[in-house]
Amino acid sequence: MKVAVIGAGLGGLCLAQGLRGAGVEVEVYERDPDVSGRFQGYRIGLGDLGCDAMLSCLPERLRELFAATTGTLSGSRENYGPDLELRDSRPPMSATTVDRQVLRQLLLTGIDVRFGKRLSGYRVLGDGRVRAGFADGSVTEADLLVGADGINSAVRAQLDPDTEPEDTGVRCVIGRTPLTDRFAALVPGFGAGVSDGEVMLMIGLMRFRRAPREAGAELGVPLPDVGDYVRWVLMPVPDHEDRPPRDTVLAAIDGWHPDLRALVEAADPRHTSRLAIRVVRPGARWPLGPVTLLGDAIHATSPSGGNGANTALYDARRLRDLLVEPRADLLGAVDAYETAMFDYGARAVEYSVAALDQFLPARPAA
Ligand SMILES: Cc1cc2nc3c(=O)[nH]c(=O)nc-3n(C[C@H](O)[C@H](O)[C@H](O)COP(=O)(O)OP(=O)(O)OC[C@H]3O[C@@H](n4cnc5c(N)ncnc54)[C@H](O)[C@@H]3O)c2cc1C
Repeated sequence: MKVAVIGAGLGGLCLAQGLRGAGVEVEVYERDPDVSGRFQGYRIGLGDLGCDAMLSCLPERLRELFAATTGTLSGSRENYGPDLELRDSRPPMSATTVDRQVLRQLLLTGIDVRFGKRLSGYRVLGDGRVRAGFADGSVTEADLLVGADGINSAVRAQLDPDTEPEDTGVRCVIGRTPLTDRFAALVPGFGAGVSDGEVMLMIGLMRFRRAPREAGAELGVPLPDVGDYVRWVLMPVPDHEDRPPRDTVLAAIDGWHPDLRALVEAADPRHTSRLAIRVVRPGARWPLGPVTLLGDAIHATSPSGGNGANTALYDARRLRDLLVEPRADLLGAVDAYETAMFDYGARAVEYSVAALDQFLPARPAA
């Protein structure tokens, strides 16, 4: 069996690791010219669902590296007013924190990724195999084509054209600032939210157990040179503004506590961006065949749910498990995968959309 995965994001690469470990031939096609083509280093929180999937798909030496280059957060989430006066504490939570860029680079290890390959379309052949075509004119054939190509999936556009991203209308600015003792004090527990009733600033830490580059070098795995940082998000922000995103945030938090303003002022403008929050809700099942979707391509969540990567990694694990089961037939495995995925994927999206309200102080409850 040969599997072609479109998209070298977290879900596609996790699937590729899992299939490779089970001895299945797998190739990954990615539109970006190389691994560092775009900045992708925001912090992600993984629960048991995502961590277990990751550990189940990675070979042992990468499992150790995964453990070394993640962080742990636990405690309550504190809510403050703009002068850092404590308003309330949410019940304690815990999560494993990962930097998306570090994790993605770790996941690339040993995987046959063809960069600079933008999928333009595919065709199911008479023998049941699939031929995928790329913008550079090249093609590949496989027994199964997996669209793990994110929220704007080109595979979905052909397989399931009625399912399109929906704009929630909410915009946010996300940034990151190198960690100092002053900024660490803003997040004593799991995370912090600061609100003046108009906007909310969410603050979370990314503290690596070991410096990724150093831990990776010991195993011959090149990882980015990234230090501990504070990830912050302000929402909602206006849809369009001429000023740079960091200035939008500074204007919104005018008069707030000096530590909060210093946090935003010290952020690297190259790593500060405006984000439109869009979701993809799985609709009706497409006819069963040798093409399927995984991750944001079919169930893109709002970041407020903290569950998009977790669900994409779970997809990868489940699909791998079903494909490599003894006596599995390909279409039976895809059918079982899609049957469950449409259900839990839809629930993941609804959960994330419902969670958006708790981060939108000025928005009337839905
Ligand atoms: C700010 C922010 C914070 C988040 N925090 C969390 C969190 O705390 N917890 C959590 O679980 N989730 C979180 N998420 C969600 C999570 O990042 C995504 O759900 C996850 O990355 C989706 O993985 P994926 O593999 O499906 O898609 P992606 O990671 O988007 O990968 C898709 C890949 O496909 C490639 N591609 C696209 N089109 C083509 C094409 N035509 N041909 C070839 N390649 C193509 C892209 O270049 C990309 O590399 C967050 C998201 C954001 C934006």
